[in-house]
Amino acid sequence: MLADLRQDAWDKAEQTSKNLVQVLERDIARNIEMYDLSLRAVVDNLKVSGVDQIGPALRQLILFDRAATAQDLGVMLVFDENGDNIIDAGAVPARKINNADRPYFQEHKAQADLGLFIGKPMVSRLTGAQTLAFSRRIDKPDGSFGGVVLGTLKLSYFTRLFSQIDLGRDGAINLYLRDGTRIMRHPYSEADIGVNIAGAPTFKGFLREHSGSFVETSARDGIERHYTFTRIGHLPLILNVALSTEEIEADWRVKALTIGIIVLMLCGLTIALSLLFGRELRRREVIQAELAKLSLTDALTGLPNRRAFEDAFARASGGARRSGKPLSLLIVDADHFKRFNDRYGHQVGDEVLRGLACSLSASVHRPHDLVSRVGGEEFAILLPDTDQAGALRIAEKVHADVSTLAIGSAGIGAGAVTVSIGLAVGVPSGAETVGPTDLYHLADGALYEAKEGGRNQTRCAKPHDPVITPLKHALRLMR
Ligand code: GH3
Ligand code: MG
Ligand code: MG
Repeated sequence: MLADLRQDAWDKAEQTSKNLVQVLERDIARNIEMYDLSLRAVVDNLKVSGVDQIGPALRQLILFDRAATAQDLGVMLVFDENGDNIIDAGAVPARKINNADRPYFQEHKAQADLGLFIGKPMVSRLTGAQTLAFSRRIDKPDGSFGGVVLGTLKLSYFTRLFSQIDLGRDGAINLYLRDGTRIMRHPYSEADIGVNIAGAPTFKGFLREHSGSFVETSARDGIERHYTFTRIGHLPLILNVALSTEEIEADWRVKALTIGIIVLMLCGLTIALSLLFGRELRRREVIQAELAKLSLTDALTGLPNRRAFEDAFARASGGARRSGKPLSLLIVDADHFKRFNDRYGHQVGDEVLRGLACSLSASVHRPHDLVSRVGGEEFAILLPDTDQAGALRIAEKVHADVSTLAIGSAGIGAGAVTVSIGLAVGVPSGAETVGPTDLYHLADGALYEAKEGGRNQTRCAKPHDPVITPLKHALRLMR
């Protein structure tokens, strides 16, 4: 959008300059053409036989038309071959003056086919005004140099023409002769008139084409400008309109700054909100992770709870199926726990449960072994990649560790707490494939056997144990 706005500003400036240059060029070209027609008329009428015989007043009337009295015209004079003014549009008899030294006189004298000659700006000897001289050569019947007809245009014509035009603080209009001499500059400064800038890069640009535009830094004041230029008709005159690039973009700059600041503020706001939102998301993530952890942890013992056990059990059975390695499960239940509660109170019961959790955790060592509290006084120990012999060793260790458990403050000595353990081993290959649910029920059945068998002992389940099957069946039906 900013680029578009900038382009619009440039397009507008270029179009305005182009239109202005065209209008000015037409006005100047038309005036000079009319002026030249008057000079041609003088040259042609001088050739008419008998004109040199008639009186000066009548001759003046015949030679000069009303153009000679136009507002900005200086003088219109005819010089003989010696440079003496012989016919004068402004006075009869002609004012006495010799202009043989003027460049136009010298040029016409030296060159027969010069046509219309436009001289450098000069101060008129008759009027004292700054003028531009237009001249044509007068030939004698034999073709030799017979003098010059001169018409001058006051530079005030150009100042008046340009004065109404506002091009901003650093804008300018310039009129040059093709040799690089500045005829007029708007805004006007006397020091600019007559200066030759043929060597300046801007002027070289003007010479490249009949008309066009470009951006260049001015040699005059170092200001970068956009120049639109044209030749005036087929005359050796170049007109240009120059706009300061800074002023072309000034309005755009203000808009760009405003829009830029607003957009940056919005971006900043968006970033700030995103950061806040991100922080909030992270905070929630932490809380959620905390909650997830809490939801999988048993508050009393700090062990993984039943849910965590179920997840781990599902993962471990999947792993065992894929690896073909045995998976052992121990269900550990405190013996006559109700009695502890009844005798010592619930708080001591809790203390015992925590003690049991420590003993059980101390009994396993492998990273994937998992001790969890799956019920009130019931724990499960999951032993991946462990066969029956290995699982039995762990069970023994559990019994041994629990037998050392004592709660001194409550007067519970070592050996008072015992557990019964039901053990089941899943071998996920061959005919004796055991699924995860079966495994749990098998272990549960074995635990029941251990209780029946007198407690404080471990029983192993056999997959086709007649005691287990009906229980397994019953548990299945309950689900
Ligand atoms: P058994 O040897 O047959 O397992 O007898 P038991 O008394 O251990 O078994 P039962 O299932 O009859 O009783 C379990 C008791 O465990 C009941 C309850 O008072 C106690 N219990 C369960 N959860 C907690 C707990 O979080 N804290 C305390 N202090 N006691 C609990
Ligand atoms: Mg119990
Ligand atoms: Mg129980």
